[in-house]
Amino acid sequence: MHYTEPIMRPPCEGYSILIEATAGCSHNKCTFCSAYKETCFRIAPMEQIRQDIVEAGRFATFMQTPRYLDATTNYVLSSAGTKHNERVFLLSGDAFAMSFKDLKQIALWIHEYIPSTKVITAFTTVNDIRRKTLEELKELAALGYNDLYVGTETGSPDILAWIKKGHTLQDALEQLHRLENTSIRYSVQYITGLAGSGNGVKNAVESAEFFNQIHPYMIGSSSLTIFPDTELGNAFAHGTFTEASELERIEEMRVLINHIKINTFFSSQHISSMIPVVGLLPNDKERLLSNLDRVIAELKSMKMLPKYERNIV
Ligand code: SF4
Repeated sequence: MHYTEPIMRPPCEGYSILIEATAGCSHNKCTFCSAYKETCFRIAPMEQIRQDIVEAGRFATFMQTPRYLDATTNYVLSSAGTKHNERVFLLSGDAFAMSFKDLKQIALWIHEYIPSTKVITAFTTVNDIRRKTLEELKELAALGYNDLYVGTETGSPDILAWIKKGHTLQDALEQLHRLENTSIRYSVQYITGLAGSGNGVKNAVESAEFFNQIHPYMIGSSSLTIFPDTELGNAFAHGTFTEASELERIEEMRVLINHIKINTFFSSQHISSMIPVVGLLPNDKERLLSNLDRVIAELKSMKMLPKYERNIV
């Protein structure tokens, strides 16, 4: 198998077969992200991808059944009707940037050499979706592409511009609505603390308004980590970005959940999150809000330090 560091995949794809389709990220400009700063974006040679799929296929039947699946992984797998060994995740930062022709060829190889595969998935950006026609998206859906991970990060137009995500809110709405015209499910991402201290509530309200206009099967929430080799890291070092405290981030998450009106799965089980918050909305909303209220009361009574030791700055 060929792998280029860094290798990143969603936590709930922890048991999926990882195939290197690309290295790096085709955008690589987000102000908070240092993931692929040292890796130039490139598409892996198609023959190398084919060889890796053949090799993975030889071992797929020997994959061990995990003894424990966390709540988010369990939801993602069961709602897609897949077992842990029936999913292939294409690396890396936005493998869905590949052309329709290449994605189709990869899917054909996967079904030939790993016939148990039911879902082929990847990280994607709004612009990667925009570059494909509706007919191409539908054909990819028929070939097994599903459960795409869309890095939305926020639904605030100001924060979106400030983090240089490369798309506007309108772009995101248009492209996610196009995806909804196919059978491809998608999840979106929200990062608490991204707007900085004092701005989390506004970000949460605006983001909930955005999420309420789309239909992600899951909203995944992580918590901002400030990396020194980023524009955000520089802003933090120069005092132009003030980090949100843990209490602010939990309050922000509460506002977000409270304002979400769509049916979706909410998960903040990411390693960066201070506490796991997982549930189906709207059914579990009251439970999640009252749990968060208890945490908020506890943090206030503890007079907790302004930040949890997450940053590496
Ligand atoms: S699109 Fe994703 S991987 Fe690429 S720079 Fe932005 S956050 Fe990082």
